[in-house]
Amino acid sequence: MLARRTHWLKQALLGPGNAVGIRLTFDDGPHPNHTSVVLQQLETHDQEAAFFLIGQNVLQYGRPDYGRHTLGNHTYSHPRLGWFDLRGAEREIARCQAILPEATQFRAPFGRLTPGLWRATRRHGLPCMHWTLDSGDWKCRSLDDARTCAAEVIRLLRDGDTVLFHDSHPWIEPILDAVLPVISRNDLASRSEVRV
Ligand SMILES: [Zn+2]
Repeated sequence: MLARRTHWLKQALLGPGNAVGIRLTFDDGPHPNHTSVVLQQLETHDQEAAFFLIGQNVLQYGRPDYGRHTLGNHTYSHPRLGWFDLRGAEREIARCQAILPEATQFRAPFGRLTPGLWRATRRHGLPCMHWTLDSGDWKCRSLDDARTCAAEVIRLLRDGDTVLFHDSHPWIEPILDAVLPVISRNDLASRSEVRV
């Protein structure tokens, strides 16, 4: 089992709140090879997403044109911060925000929202955005894994979900090739229902 639903209590504590439709989110970019392909795939299927960027990756690889997508702060160096490291948390968020002033949301590295990160996000006015469904893309090591991952995501997905993917991951492209057509077909179905 690669994909995993977030425990309801963690969802309640970390958000995101109730949503309509499906929110696609991508962590750990920009990646010099995969990010532009992911952006192209989203374009092909007319899907919007939120990208949570790592500050030092932006400095190292530059920034592709994210167009209409939402950008988020994912810290400067993706550290595993100590639970009570308040100063480190502030520094990590502030450094990323200086590189990426357009970031309007925050996601904690490893989904581990420490008190320091929580406090710094308040200070910078960044709402925290957890996920309700972890695609498990980061566990894939082969094309077979990617196919399993995509099938599990499609099976588990429900309206209101915020799905975690990684545009830095080598197997993200085949996963999206399978998942995006399903999501965009659902959108079309609900739009035609409204029209009737
Ligand atoms: Zn991450």
